[in-house]
Amino acid sequence: MYAGGTDLLVRLRKNPVNPFPLVCLGQIKELKGVRESPEGAFIGACSSHASLLSNPIIRYAFPVLAKGLQVLGSPPIRNMGTIGGNICTASPAGDTLPPLYVLDAVLEIRSQNAVRRIAIKDFIVGPGQQRLNKGEILAGIWLKNDPDFNIHHFEKVGQRNALAISVASLSALLKVSESGIIERVRLAWGSVAPTIVSPTNVEAALKGHFLSKDTLQKVMPLLREAISPIDDIRATAAYRRTVAGNILLRLLASFPYKEGYGT
Ligand SMILES: Cc1cc2nc3c(=O)[nH]c(=O)nc-3n(C[C@H](O)[C@H](O)[C@H](O)COP(=O)(O)OP(=O)(O)OC[C@H]3O[C@@H](n4cnc5c(N)ncnc54)[C@H](O)[C@@H]3O)c2cc1C
Repeated sequence: MYAGGTDLLVRLRKNPVNPFPLVCLGQIKELKGVRESPEGAFIGACSSHASLLSNPIIRYAFPVLAKGLQVLGSPPIRNMGTIGGNICTASPAGDTLPPLYVLDAVLEIRSQNAVRRIAIKDFIVGPGQQRLNKGEILAGIWLKNDPDFNIHHFEKVGQRNALAISVASLSALLKVSESGIIERVRLAWGSVAPTIVSPTNVEAALKGHFLSKDTLQKVMPLLREAISPIDDIRATAAYRRTVAGNILLRLLASFPYKEGYGT
């Protein structure tokens, strides 16, 4: 089974096992497009990254996802690759995953006779591993509107600016008061552990504090404990650790931060 084939066909070329019958889901109308729901939106699993990037609901209601999609692969990959394929591949470097984690995405899984829903954080269990049973497909993704957040941040660090698999990435949603206090926060790092890392203790430690360099630096020990990066061809574990912390500090660039807040 495949949708855009940008992951599966590459894998089959490297490891040519007999994949047949190979069913393409990519042209099933019901699995494509974005529909508004009373609470938010439903994204069909076979929607291409490019179609989502140009969708007004995604751009305006879920900008953190749009930011992730914008840096995924290259135009041909964004035209062929789908959000469902990115989720089911379950790579810790999947660019839509950190945004979907901070958005608390819920996945709709369908089989011939049943429909079930599961939170993305419970669906992905390891690199390349997810809880899809035989005979099931991912039909789509439910997202809830949450207009409360006023910072929608996504940052990806790779070996180059374009067509790069991430070395580390961070997705963040924050509600920061006019005086600079972090009232709500959701964080998710990619490429620094076997799956996406969304450490609730780091979020709790930030809540109620001023968004400042000092506050962000104070949670670094908790972040270092939460992640378990590996050495691979793209980066060393030590480099990934440093970058994971540095991209948290870059949150400051997303807020009209003034030195002196909280003093
Ligand atoms: C050159 C290149 C650059 C890339 N760059 C990036 C990048 O920067 N960031 C990034 O995140 N990814 C990148 N990728 C990986 C890939 O393009 C994405 O993961 C893409 O979203 C996969 O979607 P797809 O529809 O092509 O998946 P497919 O290859 O069609 O499927 C992938 C896997 O998911 C399963 N699957 C797909 N859809 C469903 C469904 N609806 N229900 C159940 N199972 C399903 C398939 O069985 C298969 O196992 C890159 C790939 C290439 C070749």
